[in-house]
Amino acid sequence: MNLSSAITHNNIFHIVNICSQRIKQRSYVIGGYVRDFLLGKENPKDIDILTVGKGIRLAKEVSKYIKPLPKIHIFKRFGTAMLEYDNKKIEFVGSRKESYHFHSRKPIIESGSLQDDQNRRDFTINSLAISLNNDDYGKLIDPFGGLLDLKKKILRTPLDSYITYSDDPLRMMRAIRFSTELQFMIEESSFQSIKKNKNRINIVSKERIIEEFNRILLYKKPSIGLLLLYESGLLSIILPELTLLQGIEEKNGFKHKDNFYHTLQVVDNISKDNSNSLWLRWVALLHDIGKSYTKKFIPKIGWTFHSHEFVGSKMITNIFERLKLPKGMMKYVKKMIKNSYKPVALIGNDISNSAIRRLLFDMGEDIEDLIKLCLADITTKNKEKKDHYKRNIFILMNRIKNLEKSDHIRNWKSPISGNDIMNTFDINPCKEIGMIKNLIRDSILEGKISNDKNSAYIFMLKKGKELGLKKK
Ligand code: ATP
Ligand code: MG
Repeated sequence: MNLSSAITHNNIFHIVNICSQRIKQRSYVIGGYVRDFLLGKENPKDIDILTVGKGIRLAKEVSKYIKPLPKIHIFKRFGTAMLEYDNKKIEFVGSRKESYHFHSRKPIIESGSLQDDQNRRDFTINSLAISLNNDDYGKLIDPFGGLLDLKKKILRTPLDSYITYSDDPLRMMRAIRFSTELQFMIEESSFQSIKKNKNRINIVSKERIIEEFNRILLYKKPSIGLLLLYESGLLSIILPELTLLQGIEEKNGFKHKDNFYHTLQVVDNISKDNSNSLWLRWVALLHDIGKSYTKKFIPKIGWTFHSHEFVGSKMITNIFERLKLPKGMMKYVKKMIKNSYKPVALIGNDISNSAIRRLLFDMGEDIEDLIKLCLADITTKNKEKKDHYKRNIFILMNRIKNLEKSDHIRNWKSPISGNDIMNTFDINPCKEIGMIKNLIRDSILEGKISNDKNSAYIFMLKKGKELGLKKK
């Protein structure tokens, strides 16, 4: 197969062609770019250039042909270089051969041929290379049948799959990530090798695992990857809190739903129309984790998971620390899970405005995400029930909107500050100030006074007096 006419549109390949000739190093475009290009992706992002020789040398030569002269990032230790051209990152690497030690996924590297380099790649579809050399410019070099695998939508390792995953166990996560992204099948024997090597995931850093995990979560249908993680046994190593949710128990005719499969459905639901909401997806993933610890059977009533949202929210600290997830997002995830059932509890005509104001105050800007979660949480197959639940949430949304219009609680800031209180009563910082502030807040949320400075001032004078404070 010759792709020369198809790849000529991209100038960088011509420059590499000229430079390779000049420095007498054969060069190829390889990996993700070739795969995505053959899959017909509009504009594959990064380009990996492989050269039989020194990557840095080729990058320096290429940079001379680009105006204005681009900045080259040189990674001496790895013998690689990167420069940006046409909004793309172009990586240059010399072809190499790898060998592994049992306790590390970082290989010992020596220079090698194009074939050596293709051998060390993770999947046949990622080993495809296109020649950028004069004698066979545009020729597809496909030693493992990657093109056919692209057509058959199959993920297969070039060499023995057991050894491939054992050498670098991150490849197990990558297999599942590519399978979710491209909706490709992992070849059956390859999947068996993942199962056998699952415990080797422990030699991979948490950061690298989470990087792949997050990518899985961000695709259109994350359940594809989550199910594969579950079936391979990797999920119970990475997130045992989640796999514990699996299973249905039945007693005296009472059955509860399988909370694991329910969770996957909720994650898919929330992912349908929220393209970039990584942390809302994490919330959906973890929203029921308290259930396995709070499950109880109560005769004549059935299965209950009382307070699971509080228990679940408390479990988040541990999960975030263990997986090295960003501390900055922990508060949001905890708050969302803790409040995940509040909207449902606020459904009905007899619910007071003050209860809704309290939720608005607690959630602030995140109220919309919470409503999205509640809608995604409706996974019943019974259409009547589904419509009924949805309608209830829409009614609640309307009440929230109307209340917000009149009361502005969402980004609430007390109309009276601590300084106002100190100045009015001529006092230094003391506990009475906090007490008065809390009383003002509660009275506004309960609708006893309106949310403005004048009403709050009069209220403050009254409460100050009750606490024995004198106006200046
Ligand atoms: P994407 O950029 O969409 O994630 P990609 O295939 O380009 O996909 P990269 O992580 O950018 O993935 O890696 C570039 C290429 O390097 C891959 O196509 C593959 O050939 C090779 N590669 C990357 N990581 C590994 C690995 N852990 N084991 C073997 N080969 C790898
Ligand atoms: Mg890439």
